[in-house]
Amino acid sequence: MGYQYDDQNIFAKILRGEIPSEPLLETEHALAFEDIRPQAPTHVLVIPKGPYVCYDHFAQEATDAEIVDFTRAVGEVCRRLGLERSGWRLIANAGADAVQEVPHMHVHILAGRPLGRMLEPAG
Ligand code: AMP
Repeated sequence: MGYQYDDQNIFAKILRGEIPSEPLLETEHALAFEDIRPQAPTHVLVIPKGPYVCYDHFAQEATDAEIVDFTRAVGEVCRRLGLERSGWRLIANAGADAVQEVPHMHVHILAGRPLGRMLEPAG
C-alpha cells in the first residue's frame, strides 16, 4: 500500500517551527514532546522528523539511521524520565480502527499511574 503524506498535519507544522513546542529531547532524526491532552501523568509523543504517515510507512521507507535514531530516542526519553522504575506503555496508532488523529508517525509513551490492561473491552 502506498502512503500519501500530508505536510499540513500538526506535527509537520511543529517540525517546521510554525507551531511552538518544547522538546523534551531532540536528536538528528527524532523529536519528543508532551502530548497536549495528556491521558496519564506522563504522556510523551516521539516522532521521526521524516515525512512518514504511520509505523508501517516508517518501517518500509525510513533509512536504517532514522530507525535506529528514533528507536534509541524512545528509550532515552524513558530513561531520562526515570520510567524504568515503575513501568510505562508504548502505543502506536495507525489508521481508522486505531483512531489515529495525526497522520505523522508517532508513538505515545504513557506512565505515571497504573495503566490497567492494554485494551478496554469492546463497547
Ligand atoms: P493519535 O490518535 O495517535 O494520532 O494521537 C495524536 C495525539 O496528538 C493526541 O494524543 C493529541 O492529544 C496530540 N496532539 C495533537 N496536537 C498536538 C500538539 N499541538 N502538541 C502536542 N500534542 C498534540
